[in-house]
Amino acid sequence: MQPRRAESLKQRNTLALQSHASALVEVSGMGDLTSAIDWARSEGLPLLPFGEGSNLVLAGDIEALVVYQATAAIELLGESDTEVHLRVDAGVNWHHLVGYCLAQGWYGLENLALIPGQVGAAPIQNIGAYGVEFERFVRAVHAVGIEDGKVIQLSSSECQFGYRDSIFKRELRDSVVITAVEIVLSRLPTTQLKYPALLEELSDRGVSNPVPTDVFDAVVSVRRRRLPDPAVHANAGSFFKNPVISGAHSDQLLKAQPGLPCYEQDDGSVKIPAAWLIEQAGWKGTREGGVGVHPEHALVLVNYASDSGAELLAFANRIASSVSQQFGIELEIEPRIYGR
Ligand code: FAD
Ligand code: NAP
Repeated sequence: MQPRRAESLKQRNTLALQSHASALVEVSGMGDLTSAIDWARSEGLPLLPFGEGSNLVLAGDIEALVVYQATAAIELLGESDTEVHLRVDAGVNWHHLVGYCLAQGWYGLENLALIPGQVGAAPIQNIGAYGVEFERFVRAVHAVGIEDGKVIQLSSSECQFGYRDSIFKRELRDSVVITAVEIVLSRLPTTQLKYPALLEELSDRGVSNPVPTDVFDAVVSVRRRRLPDPAVHANAGSFFKNPVISGAHSDQLLKAQPGLPCYEQDDGSVKIPAAWLIEQAGWKGTREGGVGVHPEHALVLVNYASDSGAELLAFANRIASSVSQQFGIELEIEPRIYGR
């Protein structure tokens, strides 16, 4: 455990923004992590756990010891005829976990295939795609307190998961390092198929009775086709959350915009695709300076040629203001913003 000082994070965030951390270290177990916490305290620096940097906007330099976890165990804790109970280290790549579980006949994660990032980051925004969210599988989240080095364990309900939200974005924001998660998966090959894009892909493939492998293949293929690869066009996936508005507000908007896509939630509120709002406001495919909105996917902001997170955020704020003026809907930035 030997932290390196003044390290660039440009290769460590998928938006490829320039930023330097006061120090950076890779840890591969509890002993290393405890030493890193002690080192940061002795240097008077906060400690900040990052994963693969796929949900970060680095708006400047980071005055912290940035910690990366290189732990990689996937452990079977228990099993029955219908379920398996796993403990997975924070450092495991998420998509690797999805493929590994499918190969073992442990089902449920297929809709979440190809989401970039590490397992340790999955609870932070309760990752979700194609109608399935991480919270569905969680038994426990293991973590270490950054202030006191204490080991803690949170149950699923204690994580307070919501839509792209959890306690780790609120009360426990930047105050714990998640070290492992416990999840429960099914041995029964059930599938979740409520998203039209997924159903279309399966139908195009001539699959009428999909099994989990079909869903995995369809998700991988549709994502590869529709989402820009950060290695080619630097991006952080969806830049804004899909706003959830009241039923009354959506009824009022529908009068002026009959084509407005509305997804009614269980509580009567309505989720509106932010991509549609951004496209209607005329931003899709636009470019200002080194940044822009992807021409095929209006929810993805692309860093074409900028080093500056501040430039990207100023652009995002202009988009959000114009959506607010046109629709009276406030867009919220999804990735976590760090640095000044
Ligand atoms: P980072 O970006 O490195 O970190 C994100 C946040 O998590 C930071 O606040 C960081 O401090 C915190 N964090 C990371 N690891 C830990 C840890 N061990 N302990 C405590 N805090 C930690 N998200 C979805 O929900 N659904 C999608 O379908 C999806 N698709 C995407 C597609 C693309 C092309 C891209 C670029 C992103 C996409 N995302 C999606 C967003 C992103 O992949 C997820 O949020 C992912 O969980 C981030 O993982 P990471 O390891 O890159 O975390
Ligand atoms: P899409 O299929 O074109 O759908 C557009 C939006 O409509 C999605 O964002 C989705 O909301 C919503 N939607 C579609 N069908 C729905 C249904 N039956 N019920 C409720 N909501 C529905 O979306 P896409 O952009 O290609 O992405 C596909 C999936 O991958 C989505 O779930 C998306 O969230 C996820 N994804 C997330 C990120 C990220 O960075 N967070 C990046 C890429 C893809 P939801 O977003 O709430 O699902």
